[in-house]
Formats: sequence, structure tokens, C-alpha cells
Amino acid sequence: MNKSMETVDLLVVGGGVNGAGIAADAARRGLSVLLCEQDDLASATSSSSSKMIHGGIRYLEHYDFGLVAKSLREREVLLKAAPHIIWPMRFRLPHLPSLRPAWMIRIGLFLYDHLARRATLPGSKGLRFGPDSPLKPEIKKGFEYSDCWVDDARLVVLNAMAAREHGATILTRTRCVRAVRQGDLWQAVLHDQAHDTKTEIQARAMVNAAGPWVQSFIEDSLHQTPPKHIRLVKGSHIVVPRLFEGTQCYILQNDDGRVIFAIPYEGMFTLIGTTDQEIFCCPEDAAIDDTERSYLIGVVNRYFKKQVAVSDIVWSYSGVRPLLDDESDNPSAVTREYYLAFEHDDGAPALLSVFGGKITTYRELSRTAVDMLEALFPDLPESSTATALLPGGGFETQAILRAEIEERCPWLPSDVAQRYVRSYGTLVWRFLGDKSALSDMGRDFGAGLYEAEVAYLRSEEWAVTAEDILWRRTKRGLFMSDAEKAGLAQWLASQAAM
Ligand SMILES: Cc1cc2nc3c(=O)[nH]c(=O)nc-3n(C[C@H](O)[C@H](O)[C@H](O)COP(=O)(O)OP(=O)(O)OC[C@H]3O[C@@H](n4cnc5c(N)ncnc54)[C@H](O)[C@@H]3O)c2cc1C
Repeated sequence: MNKSMETVDLLVVGGGVNGAGIAADAARRGLSVLLCEQDDLASATSSSSSKMIHGGIRYLEHYDFGLVAKSLREREVLLKAAPHIIWPMRFRLPHLPSLRPAWMIRIGLFLYDHLARRATLPGSKGLRFGPDSPLKPEIKKGFEYSDCWVDDARLVVLNAMAAREHGATILTRTRCVRAVRQGDLWQAVLHDQAHDTKTEIQARAMVNAAGPWVQSFIEDSLHQTPPKHIRLVKGSHIVVPRLFEGTQCYILQNDDGRVIFAIPYEGMFTLIGTTDQEIFCCPEDAAIDDTERSYLIGVVNRYFKKQVAVSDIVWSYSGVRPLLDDESDNPSAVTREYYLAFEHDDGAPALLSVFGGKITTYRELSRTAVDMLEALFPDLPESSTATALLPGGGFETQAILRAEIEERCPWLPSDVAQRYVRSYGTLVWRFLGDKSALSDMGRDFGAGLYEAEVAYLRSEEWAVTAEDILWRRTKRGLFMSDAEKAGLAQWLASQAAM
């Protein structure tokens, strides 16, 4: 074992949205922070979501008013913090008289409009679908309301970058294999999986933000009894060629009471999800199955004129919700509220474990978690994340930033410029600022993925493998051929060997 007994205030285990959010909030408040993630940032649940910053209109049916109000408020905060990766989206809800009655939907939308203050997002309204509608002709009426879209995997990376800007150390491909309390410190063993080396570090407090592994981490790595239990609920999405024009999303009700979203995706596609299937083991093995594919296809074919088949699926992904066990019978009805379990006995190092949550509430969860640490760090200043920008978020509008890129780099293809705005915001200047011709961008790996961008992702955003780049930092994987993807993988291997 390579012993280096560095001592930090806070060790965060898990680089999903909650771990990265907590690391960013704590580092901003002056704590020394080390975050370890066993794989890539956002490699688990936080890149497999439906990618919505939403109040969750469905949760009103479970009377989760507090959660909905909190989530609705977060939309406006996050829109301001990260206008490059989060933007408003209109949601259309076609009305089928055989399902939820119109009066019930109107009451739900009224609550949705009024449970929290809206500064920028427009309210809901009724709709009539005409002959141009992509929906089947018998669907004539519906409703429309506002929520937001988020690039979930990039939200995690931006939080990790914010944490690093405030002094945090972020270690990816590094697993916390065990930790024990010794006096007033945690003694933790971190395994660097890439180099197969182990390091020991000490921490005054530890945050267990291991998502689907939150409970097994307590049982297997800390050898303790978990204060709460989680239920693992798999959710899968499919991606098909675009089903409809426009920037609005459709929310489709199904006979089983669930709703499915059909969301415009990466320009040429529609993202369809999600399913809810309880699993009892091994979140790392979660994958879509035939029943889920047929279920999702069945729901969209009931609503849209354009019909799709399983053979149209170009990509799919599955994630596992680590839901707080509220002993509900139905996986769709299990609460999406989170629970922060805080253990802090006098003189002993603290442990804070995150059970459940949503992407939407990660910032509020992180603030609450770090507030709890005040018991150990009495001079902790207040959280500043309610008004702070995430890296790259300091611009007026996407259109103004795009015009600036086009003016300074008129040689850049316009679709690439548009993608850069929505992925990097002003971070784009870190790899575009010193370029004066397309040839300066280096090799084109395919689909407008240039060497300059890849080099930036390696040096600044912890990207290591082709998968990190093709499916998490970008979604270029959707557009590149197998040969192009292999070319990128070979290039990355050659760089790593240098
Ligand atoms: C299908 C689906 C759709 C969803 N849609 C939405 C949505 O539209 N909007 C919304 O707000 N929420 C949504 N959610 C919920 C949201 O995605 C999750 O609540 C959130 O991503 C959980 O983040 P996390 O950080 O807790 O967990 P994760 O993202 O899973 O992160 C935990 C991390 O810990 C790491 N780890 C585990 N053990 C160790 C260890 N010993 N050492 C080091 N690292 C370790 C893992 O590798 C993992 O990366 C959805 C979830 C699913 C599954």
C-alpha cells in the first residue's frame, strides 16, 4: 500500500450528481474536500435519467406537494446557474377521455403553476390539435405546461469542476474500498483502479453519495447497519429517429396509470422513457430488456401518426433509481423525496449518507447536507449555490453566445458552434480561444468531434475512455460510425501511452 496520510475535512464517496453537488457546495464554503468516484463521473444513474428538471406533475397524485414545490422552485435557480446545459421546455399532454379526466388534469396544472413562484417559465394552457399535429387524428385536445431540459451527465461534470475551482480534489476511477473510524478521523482506503494502487487518507467527515450502492457501501465497506433501506428501480429509455418536429416534449398517459415522455433529442432523434422495474441485485448490470422495449414502443405507437418498431431503436440506456424505501407496493409510487442520514457522536468522525433524490433537487440536497456538517465545522459560511453560476454559465443568452462564436470563428461549421454553446457555454473559449482556422482544431474523429475538443475533455473534464467522450461529455456516439468510434479509442490509447 502506498501510504500518504493526507487529511481532509470531507471525503465524498461517489461522483454522481449528489456527490459532485455536495463537493461543490462544501468546497465553496471553504472545506477541504476529496471526492472519489469508482468509474467515470456520472457513469451510473446521473447519466441515465430522463434529463428533466421538473416539478414532477405525476407526484401530485401521490400528494407529494412539498417535493413538487421544492422541485418547481429549483427550475428557476438552475436555469440561471447553467443556461448552457439547462433550458425551458414545453410539455404537451394529449388528453384521452378514457384516462385521467380533464378536470383532474386542470386542477393538477393549476397547482403546478402556483405551488412555486415562476420568474421566466410560462404557465399552462389548454390545446387543440389540428391536422398538422404529429398525433393521431382522434386526439384533438390536450394541455401544455413548462418544465426544463438538462444535460444530466454534463451537470455532474460542471459541479465537479466548480468543486475543483474551489480547491477540491476529484479522483475518478478511484474506489473507496473501506473506511474505519479512528479517534476523531475516518481512515479510508482508496483504490486507484487504473494504476492498481491503494492510498490511505484521513477525513473529519465522510459523505456516502454512492447512489444505488449507498446501502451496500455501509454494509460491505463500513461494516455497519444502514439507518435506512433503498429500493432499486430500473428505468430504461430508447432513442429512435425523430417522431415529430419542434422543441416540445410529449407526455403520454398509459392504461397502467404511468406516463411516458417523448422528448426531442440531439436534433435528429426522439428519446422515449421511462420504465419502472424493481430489481433486487447488481445495479451495475442493469440493461434494457425486450419487455421494456415493447412497452415503450407500444405507448408511443398509440399516440403518434408515425409508427416505430423495435428495429428503429438506435440506442438505449438503463439506469437504477436508488429510492428511499417507503414500503410502497408499486415501484412507480415510491417517494422521490430524499433522506439524509447523519451520524455524529461527540468526538467521532461524522457520516452522512444520501438515500434517494432527483437530479432536480441535487443543489438543494447538497446545501442541506453541507448545512448538517455545521455540527462539526461551526464557522461554516452559508451556501452560495442559490446564486452561483456553474462553470461556463456566464453569458446572456444562447443566441448571443452563438453569435459571438460565429463572429470570432467564422470558419467553424454552424452545427458545431451550436453544439458547443449547449455543451460548454463560455468554457468553449478554453479550446477555441486560440484557434484561427478549422485546421487548427486538429483531427476530425467524425461528426464534428475535433481533436481540440477531445484534448480539452481529457485535460479539464476527466475524460479517459471513448465511452466517456461519446456518451457522457458529448452524445457524438449517436452520430459516429463504428470505425470512427474505434479511431477515437485508438487515438486515446496512444495518448495515454505517451
Ligand atoms: C430512468 C431514470 C430517469 C430519471 N429521470 C429523472 C429526471 O428526469 N429528473 C430528475 O430530477 N431525476 C431523474 N432521475 C433520478 C436521478 O437520476 C437520480 O436521483 C440521481 O441521478 C442520483 O444521483 P446520485 O449521485 O445519488 O447517484 P449516482 O449518479 O448513481 O452516483 C453514485 C456514484 O457513486 C459511485 N460509487 C459507488 N460506490 C462507490 C465507491 N465505493 N467508491 C467510489 N465511488 C462509488 C458510482 O460509480 C456512481 O457513479 C431518474 C432516474 C432514473 C433511473
